[in-house]
Amino acid sequence: MGAAIEVRDLHKSYGGRAAVGGIDLDVAEGEILAFLGPNGAGKTTTIEILEGYRTRDSGSVSVLGVDPASAPLAWRERIGIVLQESEPVAELTALESVTMHAAYYANPRDPAEVLDVVGLSDSADQRTRKLSGGQKRRLDLALALVGSPSLVFLDEPTTGFDPSARRESWTMIDALRQLGSTVLLTTHYMDEAEHLADRIVVIAGGLIVARGTADELAQQVGASTRITWRPDPGQPAPPSTIGATIADGRASIETDDVVGVLHALTSWAVENGVGLDELNVARPTLEDVYLTLTGGGDEAGPTRSGPEPATGRSRPRDRRASRGSR
Ligand code: ATP
Repeated sequence: MGAAIEVRDLHKSYGGRAAVGGIDLDVAEGEILAFLGPNGAGKTTTIEILEGYRTRDSGSVSVLGVDPASAPLAWRERIGIVLQESEPVAELTALESVTMHAAYYANPRDPAEVLDVVGLSDSADQRTRKLSGGQKRRLDLALALVGSPSLVFLDEPTTGFDPSARRESWTMIDALRQLGSTVLLTTHYMDEAEHLADRIVVIAGGLIVARGTADELAQQVGASTRITWRPDPGQPAPPSTIGATIADGRASIETDDVVGVLHALTSWAVENGVGLDELNVARPTLEDVYLTLTGGGDEAGPTRSGPEPATGRSRPRDRRASRGSR
C-alpha cells in the first residue's frame, strides 16, 4: 500500500508562537486514521496545511503525491472535505444539491447512489432547509463523496449527534472503507476513534505524542488491565501472590498477564469455595489512555494572535461557495 499522506518535520507558527512544532505523519492509502488532540493542539493547522488552505513555515508535505501548497485543480478534485459546520443551499432539495455539486467534478459518482450510501435516499426530494441536523451532516458527507475522492478529511463528523445518529454515521464512515477511500478523521469522541480508526495519532502542544492502534497506545502509556470483584467479608482473602488490593468493598488487580492472573485467581477460588461476585475484566479505555497522554487539558492559550489567512484561500465553511468561485 502506498502513502496517501506523507509529512516530514512540519512547522507552523503564528506570531512567533509554534502551533505545530515539527511533526511527521504518514497515512497509508485506504487507511482510516484518527487525529486526536485537545483544543489548540494543532490539528486544524495541520489539516488545513494538508488541504492546501494554509501555508507551512517549513517541512515537507505530500498529499496524494502532490505538495498541497502548489497543487493543481485536478488534485483538489481528488479530495473530499467534510467540515464541522456548513449551510446547504436552503431552496435546493438534497438530490439537487448533490447533482449541482457533482457538476464541478470530472468523474463524479451518481448523485442518487451517493444519497443511498449516506442513507438519505428517503429525503432526496426534501428541501435542505427542512433536513434535520443529522440529515444535514449526511448531506455534507454526500457532497464530499460525489466527486469520488481518493482522500476524505472528516472534521468532527458526529459532533452534536444523538447516540443513535452517531452509530449510523459510523456505519456510513465504515462504508468509505469499502469504497477504498483514505480517511483522516478528527474527533473528540474516543469511542468513535476506537471504533472507526485503523490507527490513531495523538498531537499535543504541536507535537505528536503517540501513534498506533488503541492497544498499542495503551501499551505506550503502560496502562494495565484491571480485574475486579466484590469479595464476601465472610470468605478468606486471596493469597498475597495474587496481588489483589481491597478498597471500598472491591478487590482489584492491575496486570498485563490477564490469562495467568485469572487462572491463579479462579483456581484459588474453586479450591477454597470462594465466589467471585461481580467479577469484571476491564482493559483501559482509549479515553483513559488519551487523558494520560495529553494531560487532560485544553491548550488554547490566551496569546492567539490575529487571524492569518495564510494562503489567501480560506477554508470554506460552505464548499459550494469555494467551488463556485474557483
Ligand atoms: P481545536 O480542537 O480547538 O479545533 P486544534 O487542535 O485544531 O484545536 P489549532 O486550531 O490548530 O488547534 O490551533 C493551534 C494553536 O494555534 C492554538 O494556540 C491557536 O490559538 C493557534 N492558532 C490557530 N489558528 C490561528 C490563526 N489563524 N492565527 C493565530 N493563531 C492561530
